[in-house]
Parts: sequence; C-alpha cells; structure tokens
Amino acid sequence: MDTRQKLVEIAKRMYDRNMNAALGGNVSIRQGDAIIITPSGVNKGFMAELDLITVDLEGNRLYGNGVASSEAKMHYEIYRERPDVAAIIHAHPPFAVGFALAHRDLPDNLLPETTIVLGHVPCLPYTTPSTVELARQVAEALRERNAAIMANHGAITVGKDLEEAYNRMELLEQTCISVTVAVALGGVQPIPEEAMAFFVANFGLRR
Ligand code: 13P
Ligand code: ZN
Repeated sequence: MDTRQKLVEIAKRMYDRNMNAALGGNVSIRQGDAIIITPSGVNKGFMAELDLITVDLEGNRLYGNGVASSEAKMHYEIYRERPDVAAIIHAHPPFAVGFALAHRDLPDNLLPETTIVLGHVPCLPYTTPSTVELARQVAEALRERNAAIMANHGAITVGKDLEEAYNRMELLEQTCISVTVAVALGGVQPIPEEAMAFFVANFGLRR
C-alpha cells in the first residue's frame, strides 16, 4: 500500500473506530519537502486518494483540487519543530474530548502501556481552532511528547509514520475510556509512586 492509500485507510479506520464524526479531524504525512494532508470540511471516513492535498512546508498548494485542512498551520508548525515526526493525526474521540471538556490532563501513572507509550498527556488551554496561536501552542507542547489534549476541542498525536501516530491516538482514547469507567466505579487508583522509578530508569519516562 503506498502512503496516500495508507493515509486514506487510516482516516477511515479512525471514522470506523468512532474517533471522528461528521467533518472532524485531519491527518497528514511528511514526504521530503512536501506534506500530504486531508482536505477541509469533508468526512475523513469517506475520502478517495484524489481528495488529498499536497502542500510545501510554507503551505503553498502543489497538487490537489480541494482546500487543505483548516488546521494545516498546526501540522506545519509541528513538522518544523520535530524533524523526527513524519505523520500527524488530529481527532475528536469522544472520551478524550470528555477530558478536553473537563480540562483534565491524563497523568503518567495510570496504566503501564500508556505510561511507556504516551507518558503524561497535558490538556492545553483553550485556543481557537485553525489559528496560528493554536498551531504554535500545540507545536511547543509536542516538542518533548507525542500526544496532547486540546481543551474544548480534541486530541493530537504524532509519530514516525501513520501507524505509530494512529496507535498513539487509539491508546489515548482507550485509556480515557478506562479512566472514565474507573471514575464511575468510585475513582482511579494510580500506580504506586515508588513503582514509577522503573519507567524512568527503563523507558526514559520524564516526570
Ligand atoms: P478540517 O476539516 O478543516 O481539517 O477541520 C476539522 C477539524 O477538526 C478542525 O479542528
Ligand atoms: Zn478539530
């Protein structure tokens, strides 16, 4: 499967997994000096490869007929800050959005897999969607992490490729679901503080 096909497949997988509804979310990949990004204002679960837009790192359109995502600036800023990142996923998964509405961070001491893969996931203060301010805020927050929640909006994950960025988003949403269940059962019991040193020593967790 080539990368454009893969991007369409990942966007459909997100729709099928209830991570995006209606017109929400956007996905991009970096290929050399170009970025391939989803079009604005379409349902990302029902796209064809021809709908994708190719832009340069300044945002000038190179190929494609539609309009690039309204959050394209956010994608460019992240690629500028993170040379190691080649795929970005922004989604509105309902449980992560619950955290976004409650202005809650996801702490780093809940589930070992989430601790290792995501660490602490901050909820960034509300900033208007599609603005340069949001782009800068998110790019700065992702300098040293791979996932963030955007208050009253959604979530964003990055990776070296689409699978890695996607798996980070799926794990973020899965963890938010489990935390919500634990809250309904009376509250979350974190991993004991003394056990957290294991993740710092063996997995480079920064606290
Ligand atoms: P686009 O369709 O313009 O990418 O917007 C979707 C979205 O989630 C905006 O934050
Ligand atoms: Zn959004």
